Amino acid sequence: MKIAKAMNRLGTETAFEVLLKARRLEAQGRDIVHLEIGEPDFDTPPNIIEAAIRALRDGQTHYSPSPGIPELRQAVADQVATTRGVEVTPDQVVITPGAKPVIFFAILALVEPGDEVILPDPGFPIYESMVRFVGGVPVSATLSEENDFRMDPTEVREKASDRTVMMILNSPHNPTGGVLEGSDLEGLAQVALERDLWVLSDEIYGRILYEGQHASILSLAGMQERTILLDGFSKAYAMTGWRLGYGVMPEPLAIHMARLMTNSNSCTATFTQWAGLEAITGPQAAVDEMVAAFRRRRAAVVSGLNRIPELSCPEPNGAFYAFPRITETGMDDQGFADHLLREAGVAVLAGRSFGVGGAGHVRISYATSVARIEEGLRRIEASLPQRVRA
Ligand code: PMP
Repeated sequence: MKIAKAMNRLGTETAFEVLLKARRLEAQGRDIVHLEIGEPDFDTPPNIIEAAIRALRDGQTHYSPSPGIPELRQAVADQVATTRGVEVTPDQVVITPGAKPVIFFAILALVEPGDEVILPDPGFPIYESMVRFVGGVPVSATLSEENDFRMDPTEVREKASDRTVMMILNSPHNPTGGVLEGSDLEGLAQVALERDLWVLSDEIYGRILYEGQHASILSLAGMQERTILLDGFSKAYAMTGWRLGYGVMPEPLAIHMARLMTNSNSCTATFTQWAGLEAITGPQAAVDEMVAAFRRRRAAVVSGLNRIPELSCPEPNGAFYAFPRITETGMDDQGFADHLLREAGVAVLAGRSFGVGGAGHVRISYATSVARIEEGLRRIEASLPQRVRA
């Protein structure tokens, strides 16, 4: 079979592979604690579901314009304008089926073979996968535990070259829960201005923050002309399976992104866009309740992990991931993740599936109940070779 060479350069997201393995074990009758997949366990709030049903009954079953229904583009523009303190017009907004296509389309539209893209390591694996797919060169900016897993502007300045065209930021961060501070954003914006770079700012976890206000690079002077803001509904409103997200970018780029939509999806499902409008403009209490639940789970996961002598885990400031160091177990992170699934029935992700910078850690998604988190922690501890021998 002859397949295009570019397919050899396309990576994947390990979470889906581990989920598949875990489901196979479940089919054999094993009980698995799922700490692998980055998805809230909550149901979508009822007002959003009702809006989708209403839209279907009202006949919203046809194509929409490729960049989205005008009502939702307007609502997104208004919300981004308010929360980021900048002017945004609906023409700058492209609605996409999930936020992921914004990564895909931004890189397709802006990165040429040989172009370099600076991205977080560890980081969401789709960034590197897409950069390689288009023939670009990923350049890692290491996020270290000592620096609270924040991207360091000094390192980014050193890594930027004449070939660099883009930097990718992700705050709050998957897989570490790290959050960029105002001074980091200023330093990074400075590099983007000096080097004339695009900034893809992945803010999908912007609402899941445990302290302070979400800060966006889009708010800084000179950034509106060069930033693609990625956000969506999957995490904040527990809408992962709906597939609904958006990008906000300079209008000339939005026209290209809309054309990529025409060529791929034609448009995002119309009735889900009406549900998205309700999500943004309706009551927000459900979001606050989910964040409160994540906060309780964070406490359970962080204190539980730190009680196990072989593990150490800093407190994450955002998203719903913990990223403990596991080197004291005597295993490497991939070996430890495999061991936990096989011996303890606990599914986690090896840190290295997010890049070499993630080695020595595992990612634990705490988007599950405190009871399941505690069961997972109990099993992890009992499975450690030191305990088994004792
Ligand atoms: N960016 C990051 C950092 C993510 O973790 C995810 C989802 N795991 C996405 C983007 C994509 O979100 P969506 O499901 O809306 O496509």
